[in-house]
Amino acid sequence: MIKPFCRRCLLEDMPDRAALASNIRELISLLPDTLRAEESQRQSRLAVCRSCDHLVDGMCALCGCYVELRAAKRKMTCPDVPGRWEC
Ligand code: SF4
Repeated sequence: MIKPFCRRCLLEDMPDRAALASNIRELISLLPDTLRAEESQRQSRLAVCRSCDHLVDGMCALCGCYVELRAAKRKMTCPDVPGRWEC
């Protein structure tokens, strides 16, 4: 029997943020090396997000991405100002 799964989960549908963070870490671990940003680059990007007014509950209010996942993808950019992450 195929188990049903949610395709459009909201944070409020999830038991806690720790589970969400764990899911995001798992998704990041599944990214191929060719697509994944270096950890130092990801941390640098997240430092920018941490001080950004558009960061709301782990999501970017401009693009709707979980920033921890967006920042883990090498070719992604900040949707606010091109190059903002690369300062
Ligand atoms: S991705 Fe850019 S706009 Fe979005 S929260 Fe991070 S720094 Fe702010």
